[in-house]
Amino acid sequence: MGIKYSSKINKIRTFALSLIFIGVIVMYIGVFFRTSPFIMTLFMILGLLFIIASTVVYFWIGTLSTRAVQVVCPSCGKVTKMLGRVDLCMFCNEPLTLDPELEGKEFDEKYNRKKRKS
Ligand SMILES: [Zn+2]
Repeated sequence: MGIKYSSKINKIRTFALSLIFIGVIVMYIGVFFRTSPFIMTLFMILGLLFIIASTVVYFWIGTLSTRAVQVVCPSCGKVTKMLGRVDLCMFCNEPLTLDPELEGKEFDEKYNRKKRKS
């Protein structure tokens, strides 16, 4: 398959991590405006908001994880968590489904949001 998908939990985790990075970068930019306390404070608050948002997302992952179904991946044999009807193995990206109707069918991006090209 030329198209590479990522498990939903992994995607959200990447998103949370990028929020931390953005927050740190924004706060770092603020340091350059040392001479103007107002702009510096503005950047610091903005950066802090990104980090708070990331904490919220991490908390959300925690809640999602408890609701996720634990399955043993038929491809790599590891225990993975899946969300919804269709998801991918967190380790080898093997498409997994809980719906017998979808079993054996080509992995449909309809059940996942974005597809990434490798
Ligand atoms: Zn797997």
